[in-house]
Amino acid sequence: MKKMAMKQTIIRAGLETLYFSGAYQVMRPFVAGVGAILTLHHVRPARPEQFQPNRLLEITPQFLDEVLIELRRSELDLVSLDEMHRRLVEGDFRRRFVCITIDDGYRDTLQWAYPILRRHQAPFTVYIPTSFPNRVGELWWLVLEAVVARNAAINVHLGGQQETLRCASVTEKRDAFDRLYVWLRSLTSEAELRSAVRDLAARYQVDIAAFCNELCMRWDELANLAADPLATIGAHTVNHVMLAKVSEEVARTEMDMSRTAIESALGVRPAHLSYPVGDRTSASAREFRIANELGFKTAVTTRPGVLFGTHRNSLMALPRISLNGEHQQLRYVRVLLSGAATAMWNGFRRVDAA
Ligand SMILES: [Zn+2]
Repeated sequence: MKKMAMKQTIIRAGLETLYFSGAYQVMRPFVAGVGAILTLHHVRPARPEQFQPNRLLEITPQFLDEVLIELRRSELDLVSLDEMHRRLVEGDFRRRFVCITIDDGYRDTLQWAYPILRRHQAPFTVYIPTSFPNRVGELWWLVLEAVVARNAAINVHLGGQQETLRCASVTEKRDAFDRLYVWLRSLTSEAELRSAVRDLAARYQVDIAAFCNELCMRWDELANLAADPLATIGAHTVNHVMLAKVSEEVARTEMDMSRTAIESALGVRPAHLSYPVGDRTSASAREFRIANELGFKTAVTTRPGVLFGTHRNSLMALPRISLNGEHQQLRYVRVLLSGAATAMWNGFRRVDAA
């Protein structure tokens, strides 16, 4: 089994153990914190293809519905990011809360997620990289998937060496994707990553712009969503860049310009930010400082964790809980919202804002 599949298996085993041992219920009073922010990307019906390396980024409409039914039955409040911010700043922790956030602004947010969210009257935030509705975004992880899916072998320069990656079978495709993905993520600058992906797209005839057109909401579709008081529109940079891999000046411009572009298109100035990719290779102390200097009320990472009262001092480095497409079981959501799984992954450290 390869590294990335192994990682998912270990995560699942941990969640299962915490659930079936009942440990998550024992731990909950100590690790559940005051609330949590959920991360979603795609919400759409499952597809039959065996090779779906980005499947962790999508859940089915049915699973979202089940999660919301569970949340509505629970003692948790479903709140907007503004209300979360108020509760953190004022220390109003009488009731635990959950915020729902959806990254990237895919059209399936409007088509599949929104009707379900509205039925449950659940506030939600959609974080928009403005190059996506502007139709110039590069969804490079989908380019990579397409190159591997459509070819039986790929020639690449990996670490200065020409290599041929076989990708005829599903197993070979998974291995090739993992190697290419790990290599791209290891590059030290966003510019190197983008030029490597553009090179692959050109040599294997994948139309980069097509993904935006096909998958992402236009501004008029975003305006429909934004008109609903349940919806908050957040910033997610212009070009969906890993901010830690660009210069300080570019990082600042990416964060600031996305806010301006959303304001001029939709008439609302985003007060909340999501760092693209959002792990520690994409956002850390420098990005948290810039977001603070730009005056955002909150900014979210993809570092896993629930919220504690002390996060009022780290509003630019909030952790989230991903609804991962590889683990679409309500019992995993129960374990994750109990704080038990992330407490263990984080070594029981509550706030990680470095
Ligand atoms: Zn994103």
